[in-house]
Amino acid sequence: MGEGARRADEGEKLKNITLIKGDGIGPEISDAVLKIIKAARVEINWDIQTAGADVIEKEGVPLPARVIESVKRNKIALKSPVTTPIGKGFRSVNVQLRKELDLYSNLRPCYNLPGVKTRYDNVDIVVVRENTEDLYAGIERQVDEDTAESIKIITRGASERIARFAFDYAVKNNRKEVCVVTKANICKLSDGLFLESARKNSELYPQIKFREILVDNCCMQLVQNPNQFDVLLLPNLYGDIVSDLCAGLIGGLGIAQGANIGKDYAVFEPVHGSAPDIAGQDKANPTAMLMSAIEMLNYIGEVEAAKRIKTALFDTLKSGIKTADLGGNAKCSEFTDAMISKLS
Ligand code: ATP
Repeated sequence: MGEGARRADEGEKLKNITLIKGDGIGPEISDAVLKIIKAARVEINWDIQTAGADVIEKEGVPLPARVIESVKRNKIALKSPVTTPIGKGFRSVNVQLRKELDLYSNLRPCYNLPGVKTRYDNVDIVVVRENTEDLYAGIERQVDEDTAESIKIITRGASERIARFAFDYAVKNNRKEVCVVTKANICKLSDGLFLESARKNSELYPQIKFREILVDNCCMQLVQNPNQFDVLLLPNLYGDIVSDLCAGLIGGLGIAQGANIGKDYAVFEPVHGSAPDIAGQDKANPTAMLMSAIEMLNYIGEVEAAKRIKTALFDTLKSGIKTADLGGNAKCSEFTDAMISKLS
């Protein structure tokens, strides 16, 4: 995702990396990815940290301070999903982590993988999602018994820095266009500010085409003709929803990668959640987690290993070995072993 080049240029090889195992399918896909990275002979000192539902009983909270401290120490983390309970309970671990580490950009490249046939070919979209505010600020109140309200926070500072991130990303990665996605005709002040910040920053990047679209139209256009889109820039909530839509265009959540990048830290994680419906059954597709790990390897300068792993992954998919979410019958462990046998 281009960030690899930046770290590599700095000549910095960070080998201590936090691994957050998560819950649901998290432990299964983490184990698969660790096994593959080890088989690729990449030497990493994994600082393994547990988080989520399973640690609440022992430690009282789903995201103990030790996890944040570990990422602060190592600067880089690979994270598998952690359940966000619906309704009352703890604040989402994902939201808390992004907030505390100020991981302000969520980068989700979304492109067709070889061997995974979908409705569209040549999808190549990068979702850049603002990661720290919007409705995720978690400011809600019960006004009265029959009324609840949630506050959508959009600030100029956060909107400007994510806009800059999107344009910088576009320049560094030879992308042609940044399209800002809002509902500024309805949320005139909040989305209006996000849009205004994108417009202002677009003027600093004359080499990148700039486009504006409303989120509802964007969803329809994505389903009808995804090839028209390049880099999408969105506030937090639309970014979350549109990312899943984009994942659907390329074969589903089982293959959709992601990264949370801030000024000081980077946490690589798949787009999908903890998939409790298939947890513990050896059914999960480890590809999304692996693709996220491959980008992490690029980020730390392990470019050659990243390339070898990606080639083995693509060869496996092309040979027809797939997990159930992609229409195949391989278990997570079988897919992992097949991939390892193809590693050079
Ligand atoms: P969250 O809100 O935490 O992101 P979600 O509601 O989007 O979670 P997921 O946990 O991502 O839900 O799962 C959505 C669907 O996709 C489920 O049916 C799940 O089984 C499937 N799914 C998600 N990840 C994978 C995977 N790695 N392999 C196979 N199926 C998956």
